[in-house]
Amino acid sequence: MTHPFLDLAPLTAARFASIEDRVARLLSTRQDVVIMQGEALLPLEGAIRATAGPGTTALNVITGPYGQTFGDWLRDCGATVIDLAVPFHTAVGAEQIRDALAEHPEIDFVSLVHAEAATGNTNPVAEIGEVVKEHGALFYLDAVASVGAEPVLPDVWGVDLCVIGAQKAMGGPAGVSAVSVSERAWTRMAANPRAPRRSYLSLLDWKERWVDGGRKALLHAPAQLEMLALEACVERIEAEGLENAMARHASAAAATRAGVAALGGGVEPYVHEAAQAAPVATTLRTPSGVVASELVARALAKDPALPLAAGGGALAGEMIRVNHYGADATPGAVRGSLTALGGALAEQGRTVDLAGALRAAEQAWDQGAAGAR
Ligand SMILES: *Cc1c(COP(=O)(O)O)cnc(C)c1O
Repeated sequence: MTHPFLDLAPLTAARFASIEDRVARLLSTRQDVVIMQGEALLPLEGAIRATAGPGTTALNVITGPYGQTFGDWLRDCGATVIDLAVPFHTAVGAEQIRDALAEHPEIDFVSLVHAEAATGNTNPVAEIGEVVKEHGALFYLDAVASVGAEPVLPDVWGVDLCVIGAQKAMGGPAGVSAVSVSERAWTRMAANPRAPRRSYLSLLDWKERWVDGGRKALLHAPAQLEMLALEACVERIEAEGLENAMARHASAAAATRAGVAALGGGVEPYVHEAAQAAPVATTLRTPSGVVASELVARALAKDPALPLAAGGGALAGEMIRVNHYGADATPGAVRGSLTALGGALAEQGRTVDLAGALRAAEQAWDQGAAGAR
């Protein structure tokens, strides 16, 4: 008997290229899209090491833990790094970027995370892109957590390196990822003697041996199962319609936010302004005296399938993450999360209005969908 995962025909170069083309359509981009055979950290690191070096001055925007990591990679490449950090409960503004660029005209690289699932904020990339374009710096964007949940438009926004992964709002596999690369980003890499070459981290290898060769021969055996899963997940988004998938995420965020506000019990949205809250996931702040990781453990004891997690690292004490993305961007997942969190809070002696929370969530779901269109 043939096994559905094991006895597959080889994945051809043509099939691989067609999956790249479908990902490019999802991003409405005419740039080269390279699918990397690893989790999104592979192109995130590969793109920085390819374009940054001792001559680079980078503005690194920190709105969560990923921005911190990018700064470390940039410094490791020998770049001069100017960190622009904002509190995790807000987003960065285009004006702050403009000021930083005016203060340091030598900046030739800007790194930014679009939405951070780990902190629940989202940054106004369209406005920031205008400012970066005016200045002329290379623009690097981590759109792993935003793609599928809100518009990601590298060409319109002037993004030179746009990295995506499928495991969040796209509801796909974690083992492959993609990066769209502008012409000037390729040029910058080719001119960088320290860009990885003949290396698993290398984007230039894919440029020279795959893209420039007309995408006829793959560099190595592809991650076949993940590639097929990526194709299936893009197919599913196309069938639903990208706009509808994004509306579903906007609704889930609006419903969670409204539900929590009505629930009471001292839990509040972590990101203060709704406009700065990411559609992909809603973060919550627990009141003093309630340890977030313990509350999440209680809630998950009621239903282990719920998309709830405590914040990472130091945030585990005060942050709850409602990861309402992909298959969990549904009214049921939001209702279940509110119910379990309400129950856990009540067990800790907090007064909650669960019926009110569910009502508010339902109303906000419909408004969220309307607002996203
Ligand atoms: C989730 C995410 C990634 C990918 O990291 P994983 O922990 O492997 O899922 C990268 N960047 C951002 C902003 C993310 O939210």
